[in-house]
Amino acid sequence: MQDGGPGAARERGRREFADLGIVLRTHKLGESDKILRILTREHGKRSAVAKGVRKTSSRFGARLEPLTCSRLLLHRGRGMDTVKQAEIQTSFQEVRADLDLFVNAAAMCELVDAIAEEHEPHSELFDLLLKGLELLKSHPQRARFTRAFFEMRVLAAGGFAPMLDSCANCGAPLGDGEQLFSLHRGGFVCEGCLVKRQAEVGKLVRVSAGTAGMLSWMSGHQLGEWPDEPPGAELGEAEMLMDRILEHWTERRFRSHQVMKEMP
Ligand SMILES: [Zn+2]
Repeated sequence: MQDGGPGAARERGRREFADLGIVLRTHKLGESDKILRILTREHGKRSAVAKGVRKTSSRFGARLEPLTCSRLLLHRGRGMDTVKQAEIQTSFQEVRADLDLFVNAAAMCELVDAIAEEHEPHSELFDLLLKGLELLKSHPQRARFTRAFFEMRVLAAGGFAPMLDSCANCGAPLGDGEQLFSLHRGGFVCEGCLVKRQAEVGKLVRVSAGTAGMLSWMSGHQLGEWPDEPPGAELGEAEMLMDRILEHWTERRFRSHQVMKEMP
C-alpha cells in the first residue's frame, strides 16, 4: 500500500481524533518537548506529548499553555498520545497572568486531574471546568466563590452531592442554626444522632448558619448563577469545608489548597 493511499488514510483515521481539550498541567520532556495532561470533552483525560513545543520557533506557540482550551488533533499512541495540531478556542491568558486567579484555576485543574479517569469520557466535568475558567475570567472579583461553587458542582457530578437539607445519618429535618458536617456521612447531621451515635457520624466540621445556607444555595443552583446577596464572611468557612470534603472524598491532599493557605 502506497503512503497516502486509501488504506493509509483509513489507518490514520483510526489513530487520530479531534476534540476540544483543556490543558490541566504540563511538564518538560527532554530538550524541547512537553508532556501535557489534558481533559478532552469526548475522550476523557489524556496524556500527550507536544514535540518541539519549547522551541521559540514552535508551531504550537502558546496554544498548549496550562488552562488553554484548544481544538486538538491527537494521534493515539500506546501509552501516550501525540499532539498533531492545536487551535486556540480560549487562551485564558488573563487568568494565567493574575496570581490570585491562577491559584484558583490551578485548584480546579488539580481536582479534575484527581478524579477524572484516564480515557473515560466525562463531558459534564469538561463543561464544568470550562465554565469555571470562563467565570474566573469574566468575574475575577468572584474567584473564590466561583472555585467553591465549582467544587460543589463537581461533587454532585461525581455522585457525591453533600446532604445539606436533612440529617445525612437519619434523615430528620435540621434546625436553622449552625450545623455539623460529618465527613464520614457526607452531610450535615442532627443533634439527635450526635448524642446517640457519635461514633457513626465520624469526624465533624462545625459551620455557621450563614455558611450552611450558602452551601445549600450552591447545591441547588448551576455554575454561573449568582446569589442575590453577595457572599461575605461565610465564604472562608465554606472554602475550608469544601477543602476538607474534597480531601476526604479523594483521599488525598491537594497542593493547591496548601498554596492558597500560604498566600497573603
Ligand atoms: Zn440524624
